Amino acid sequence: MSELGPPLREVATHCPYCALQCGTRLAGDRETGVVVRPDDFPVNRGRLCQKGWTAPAVLSATDRLTRPLVRRRDGRLAEASWDVALERVAGELRRIRAEHGPDGVAVFGGGGLTNEKAYLLGKFARLALGTSQIDYNGRFCMSSAAAAGNAAFGVDRGLPFPVTDLQGARTVLLAGANVAETMPPLMQHLDGAELIVMDPRRTASAQRAALHLQPAPGTDLALALGLFHIAAVDGLLDRNYIQDRTRGFEAALRRAMDWWPERVEAVTGIPASDQRAAVHMLARAGGAYVLTGRGVEQHSTGTDTVAGFINLALALGLPGRAGSGYGCLTGQGNGQGGREHGQKADQLPGYRSITDPAARAHVAAVWGVAPQELPGPGRSAYELLDALGGDRGPRALLVFGSNPAVSAPHSTRVTERLAALDLLVVADFVPSETARLADVVLPVTQWAEEEGTLTNLEGRVLRRRARLSPPGQVRSDLQVLHELAVRLGEPASRYPTVPQEVFDELRAASRGGRADYAGISYERLDAGESLHWPCPDTPDPHPGTPRLFLDRFEHPDGRARFAAVDHQGPAEELNPHYPLHATTGRVLAHYQSGAQTRRVAELNDAVPGPFVEMHPDTALRSGVSDAGLARVISARGSMTARVRVDPTMRLDTVFAPFHFPGEGRANLFTHPALDPHSGMPSFKVCAVRVEPVSGV
Ligand code: SF4
Repeated sequence: MSELGPPLREVATHCPYCALQCGTRLAGDRETGVVVRPDDFPVNRGRLCQKGWTAPAVLSATDRLTRPLVRRRDGRLAEASWDVALERVAGELRRIRAEHGPDGVAVFGGGGLTNEKAYLLGKFARLALGTSQIDYNGRFCMSSAAAAGNAAFGVDRGLPFPVTDLQGARTVLLAGANVAETMPPLMQHLDGAELIVMDPRRTASAQRAALHLQPAPGTDLALALGLFHIAAVDGLLDRNYIQDRTRGFEAALRRAMDWWPERVEAVTGIPASDQRAAVHMLARAGGAYVLTGRGVEQHSTGTDTVAGFINLALALGLPGRAGSGYGCLTGQGNGQGGREHGQKADQLPGYRSITDPAARAHVAAVWGVAPQELPGPGRSAYELLDALGGDRGPRALLVFGSNPAVSAPHSTRVTERLAALDLLVVADFVPSETARLADVVLPVTQWAEEEGTLTNLEGRVLRRRARLSPPGQVRSDLQVLHELAVRLGEPASRYPTVPQEVFDELRAASRGGRADYAGISYERLDAGESLHWPCPDTPDPHPGTPRLFLDRFEHPDGRARFAAVDHQGPAEELNPHYPLHATTGRVLAHYQSGAQTRRVAELNDAVPGPFVEMHPDTALRSGVSDAGLARVISARGSMTARVRVDPTMRLDTVFAPFHFPGEGRANLFTHPALDPHSGMPSFKVCAVRVEPVSGV
C-alpha cells in the first residue's frame, strides 16, 4: 500500500468527527464531489447525524490549505516551498534547543489524530526533540473520566462494553451527557430504556427522559453522593457484589452518609423525591447503566465527580456484569486512541505510565534507545499553554490537529502566550484561528485523504481509508514528522511514513501494556474483523475484548475501588459582581472549536454564530432581550453573543456553546482552575454577569 492509499470505487471508512465513529461509505471524487452514505455499522446502523452527512464539504473548503505558509518580515503569511518551510522550522528548533535546552520546544497534539499520527508525534517529541513538553487537547475532553476510571477499575476504556449492549437496559442514567445532540445515532440503542438525564439545561436528551434532574452547575458530586446515600438507606445496595468484587466501600459510604436528601436538595436544587425516584429506577431489576459525559467531567473537581458516579454504580453492583455497567462517553473522534499512544504528558504507548521503569524499558527497546534517553513527564495541556514564552517555559510550539486559540480555557491568556513564542508552527488542513497566529503553517491531509486507524469510544479499532488523493502540495502529518526529524539529525528509518508500518511499530510498543494492540493488524481489520483492545498476540489470533471486567477488574487483586470523595463546590462561587453560573457545551450542528463545521454551509445556516441562553426572567434582570446582543462577563474576560431566552433554563444559569471564534469565544470567560488529578480545566462552571451591549 502506498503512503496515502490507492483511490477506490466506494470506500468504507468512518465519520471524521465524534468518538462514536459512525461507519460510512464514500463515492465520487474531487471533480464530481464526494458523496457519503451511512454504513450498516454496529454503532450507527444506517444512520448519521447532520455533521456526518455534510462531512465531505470540508474536503473542498474554499480556504483549504494546499501550500506551506511562512510569515514574512512584514508580518504577513506567504506561500513558500516545503523546503523553505521545513528548513525554517528545523533551523529555529535547533537554535531554541541550543539556547534553552530540549524543553524549550513543546508539542500540542489532538484527539482527532489517527493512532499512527498520535504515536509518531509522541515518539518525535521524545526522541527527535528530546522534550518532555508534550500534551494534547484530549486533556480538555475526557481526562477526568480517564483518571477516575483508572483508579476505580485499573484501566480506562470509555465504554467497557459495545454500545449495542445498551439495547438491553431498562434504565440508563446520562450524567452530564447530551447524546441526542452530540451523538444522535447512539440514541437508537437507548430506545428500550427509561432515561434519567442529569443536566443543568433541559437539553434534547433531557426532553426524552423519564426523569430530568436539573442541578445547579458545579454541584454534581453532591448529587452523586446523595444518590449513594439513598441507595444505602433504602436497602438498595448489592451487598454480595460489594463484598466479592470491590474494596473501599466503608470509607466511601461514610462520606455519602453526610449527604442526606434534604441537604442535597438545598445544594443542588433537585427535590428529594426526584433523587429517590432516580435511585429506585437504577436499582430495579432489568439492567441499568450509568454513563458520564463532559458535563460532570469538565470541572476542577471532575475526577472526584466521576468517581462519585462510579461509586453509585459499584454500590448498585452494575460494572462488570452482563446487561449493566458504567461507562464514559468519550467525545473526540480518536479521543480513546489518542490517549493511549504517547501524546499525553504522562504516558508512553500502550497506555503506559512514563514514570514506570518497566514501561520505559519496553518502549525504549522498541525505539532502539536506552531508557534514560526518554524524558520524564511534562506539563498538562493548560499548564503547558500557560507557560509558553515565559522565563522557564517553552519558546517554540508545534501544534498538530488542534486549535487551542479557541478551545483552551481563559482564551485571552492563551492567545497572549501563543503570541509570546519565538516560533509557532501549526500543521492543519484549514487556516484555523491558531494557524492564523503561526510563524509557519504546514498543510496536511484530512480524513478522506489518508489511511490509518482510530479507536472509538468502545475501544474498537477502526480503519480510516483514503478516497481521494490530497490536493496541491498537501502532505501527511507522518511525512512532516519524518522530514523534520531527519533535518534534526535523526535516522530516517526511525520515522516511517507508511501508516501500516507505523501501526506495526505501535503494536510492538503497546505489547503487554494496558491498551495492548499487538494482535490487531491492518489485514485483520481489512478482512472485516471487529477488534476491541486489549487484543494481545497470544493466543494467535486473539478475538479482542468487547467486554471488560466480566470476571475481574484490572487491579492486581481483581477488585474495583470505591473512592472516598466529598463535594467541594466549584472553583469560583457566585458573588454580587458575578451573580450567575455560566456553563458551556456543544450544539448538534458544530464540533469542537468549529474549525471544520463552520466551513460547512448547512451547518453554518443551522447555527450561524455564538449565542447565550438564559431564562426570560434572567434576561429581564440583566437588562437584555431575546435576540439582542449581550456581553457575558467573568473576572477573566467577556464574550459577546445574541441572547436566546428559554423558560426551561435555571434562573441562576446561562449557557454558551464553545464553537465560535473572536468576540464570540465562550472561552473568553471560562475558568482555568485545574483538577489536581487530571489537569482538566473548569469549563463547565464559573461566575459571570450579563450586560447589554450598549448602542444595540
Ligand atoms: Fe459523525 Fe458522531 Fe454524527 Fe456519527 S454521531 S455522524 S460519528 S458526528
